[in-house]
Formats: sequence, C-alpha cells, structure tokens
Amino acid sequence: MTDMRNGVCAVCGGEEIYTASTRLETPTALFGMLHTEKVDLYACVSCGFLQTFLDRTDDQARWMRNSWKRV
Ligand SMILES: [Zn+2]
Repeated sequence: MTDMRNGVCAVCGGEEIYTASTRLETPTALFGMLHTEKVDLYACVSCGFLQTFLDRTDDQARWMRNSWKRV
C-alpha cells in the first residue's frame, strides 16, 4: 500500500493529502493498560480515504508482537 505520508493517496492516487495529529481513545484490549494513543492521520480530499499511523512506543510495539496476529 502507498504510504500517504509521501503525499499520494493509496486508493485513488490523488495528490491533495492533508494531515493532522490527534489522540485516539482505544479499547483496553488494544494496548493493555493504555487508553489514549497519539496518531497521525492522513486524509485524501478526492476520495475520503483515511490512513492512520500510530506514534508507537517500545511498550506498544512489544504489546503488538505479543498480543496481535501478524499479517
Ligand atoms: Zn484518494
């Protein structure tokens, strides 16, 4: 998949991409004890596709490796 941080939409190829950072409330099961995560959002104006990047910590990376299913 295209990394929209490079300014190109992963779905439609549009080049008008905007970004914002926010904190996302997540279910406890997602990262154990943590409840809000900082994420960077990249949105395509043309088609509305939204790509989300987690500003992950070492603890979160460890949690994903131990608890999530690898694709
Ligand atoms: Zn698009």
